[in-house]
Amino acid sequence: MCDALKEECGVFGVYNFDGHTDAANIIYYGLYALQHRGQESCGIAVNDSETVIYHKDMGLVPEVFNDIMLNHLKGSMGIGHVRSSTGNAAFRENAQPLVSKYKKGSLTIAHNGNIINAADLRKEFEDNGAIFQTTNDAEVIAYLIARERLKTHSIEEAVANSVPYLKGSFSLVVMSPKKLLAVRDPWGFRPLCFGKTEHSYIFSSETCGLDAVDAKYICDLRPGEIITVDKDGVRHDARHCSDKRKMCIFEYIYFARPDSIIEGISVYDSRIEAGRQLAIEHPVDADLVIAVPDSGIDAAIGYSKESGIPYDIGLIKNRYIGRTFIQPTQQQRVRAVKIKLNALKNTIQGKRVVVVDDSIVRGTTSNHIVQMIRDAGAAQVHMRISSPPFLYPCFFGTDIPSQDSLIAVQNSVEETRKIIGADSLGYLSLENLWKTLGKRRDHCDACFSGRYPMDVPFVSKEDIKSE
Ligand code: SF4
Repeated sequence: MCDALKEECGVFGVYNFDGHTDAANIIYYGLYALQHRGQESCGIAVNDSETVIYHKDMGLVPEVFNDIMLNHLKGSMGIGHVRSSTGNAAFRENAQPLVSKYKKGSLTIAHNGNIINAADLRKEFEDNGAIFQTTNDAEVIAYLIARERLKTHSIEEAVANSVPYLKGSFSLVVMSPKKLLAVRDPWGFRPLCFGKTEHSYIFSSETCGLDAVDAKYICDLRPGEIITVDKDGVRHDARHCSDKRKMCIFEYIYFARPDSIIEGISVYDSRIEAGRQLAIEHPVDADLVIAVPDSGIDAAIGYSKESGIPYDIGLIKNRYIGRTFIQPTQQQRVRAVKIKLNALKNTIQGKRVVVVDDSIVRGTTSNHIVQMIRDAGAAQVHMRISSPPFLYPCFFGTDIPSQDSLIAVQNSVEETRKIIGADSLGYLSLENLWKTLGKRRDHCDACFSGRYPMDVPFVSKEDIKSE
């Protein structure tokens, strides 16, 4: 459980091709499956004979939607979004999908990612008279697509023409009056996949969203690919596809659900392998392996399998915590740890415990967890982390903060061990992290390595290693 990372966003889209008007219901279940990607706000927008109706609000999917609401949202295609704020503040106005009207009708967008040059684009548009109602990148993207649409003959041309203006990460679903489109940035930072049910085409941030609605997986969108669905069928546009490929490696470590398969790699398998590699790299004499739930569980099982040290449940997570505890201040995060987790004393008492977590950001949470395990009677506490130390911020849609906040920037591993109060501390090395993804070596790992796939703001040139 990361002590600063909030989940990012999840997008979902449905196009019914045989007249069914239950798109909202399908989106509801899809968003439920993607809830781990954002718990701050959510929304669904559907298209009913070219009229867009929508509902969005702060809160979890089952808090925002009920049967009455879903029955009201009748439409044969639609898009949905779950959100956690990263750069932007947590305002209701920023909830997505973003629904806009312009000369060509309606334009509805759901976005996962972060547009690095959004402020520049916004300024350029504002200088030319544009008025924005949110601080969302999605509104900048919508304005850009609308502008391009006035120069072209179709929405897919407008989307394609917009892609080169956008720098950063974007997995988008876009709904026009008659078409549903999905597009992934040319680096492919964020996942996005395509599937089909008996009645519908589906876009989802992760395959767990396809599974939730019984959709058969067709493909991951390739980085830069645009897929359009309308009454004429499905069209793939590869004009922006390239070999830039920089899928976020942290999706596998933390963000994605373990039952998802992203670009052919099982998230669960990669986490088990991370645990195995961690056990090889940082062995220790111990009696018990436990996990920080939930994202440390798979790596802890892997550590146990490789080391032969028994795995058991040692920390219990309170599963009934809503957005109240997904809060941005340090004080709130500290309090949240005590409410979120509790130790199983009978399991831990007298044992030399290996506790596996996915990452350490600021170190505050790790310190509380180690203390909690000691208070439960552990003889020793050995912290193992299934990713390398965070040394650089992320600019591509996650909340890995500035270097000032990253404990590993200011402190050596030994200093960090002392701060969190563990008997030993071991991080998975970057070299061994790569082994968890098989032969692939084309992911973004910039928050660990400083090898940013593009120029980024706020990091001095000497801190950035070239590719
Ligand atoms: S910097 Fe880190 S978190 Fe951000 S996209 Fe790259 S690997 Fe993912």
